[in-house]
Amino acid sequence: MTKERKTVFLVMFGPPGAGKGTQSKMLVERFGLSQISTGDILREAVKQRTCLGQQAKTYMDRGALVPDEIVVGIIEDRLSAQDAGGGYIFDGFPRTVAQADSLSQVLSRMSREIDCVINIHVEDEELRKRLSGRRVCSRCGEEFNLFFKPPREDKFCGKCNGELTQRKDDQEETVKERLEVYKKQTEPLIEYYKTKNKLKTISGVGGIPEVFRKTCQILEDLAKR
Ligand code: AMP
Repeated sequence: MTKERKTVFLVMFGPPGAGKGTQSKMLVERFGLSQISTGDILREAVKQRTCLGQQAKTYMDRGALVPDEIVVGIIEDRLSAQDAGGGYIFDGFPRTVAQADSLSQVLSRMSREIDCVINIHVEDEELRKRLSGRRVCSRCGEEFNLFFKPPREDKFCGKCNGELTQRKDDQEETVKERLEVYKKQTEPLIEYYKTKNKLKTISGVGGIPEVFRKTCQILEDLAKR
């Protein structure tokens, strides 16, 4: 696939389990953007047991949001460290109105603004199944889902026979909490970006390629402006 360079600042928005990370990674491949996923950065920090990781873990394990100052700090670091040439996809950030305000201040210092917020809409029941059913191979990283892509053997990967694990925050009670937190703290951003005329809502069901086709279309339309 040919990579096309486009300078765009994009927010990949939606509830946990909507497919923001999957779509972002595909857009990186297709358009050569830099992905900044606060969830991935925080998980890596937890794994490495850094100071940031230790602070974040207590919030993440119970499905709560990590405090705004911490995640805004992460974004500022990344924006100053990474090449902005092709533009950025913010994946899982902002998640509160305060984070969105901070993002717009940080970007205005770079004489930039968010070009578009892609809101991936998925119903709650589907999200619950996607998250609580997710299992990841501890050896090769292959993902399974007990509802949609069940492993042939209960606890082992069909590809490499590694042990399947469940992310701590994918446990049923934590999933419930994450969805409630989304509704209370993050969903108001839909209105926030709608009034700024930045919001494009697409359905997140119907298969990954189908959703990707719609996200690509949005980016191609942006490039024509
Ligand atoms: P994710 O993989 O994006 O669902 O993120 C996993 C967890 O990381 C979330 O449940 C939060 O605890 C934390 N997190 C990720 N991004 C943010 C953010 N922008 N603001 C606050 N907490 C975040």
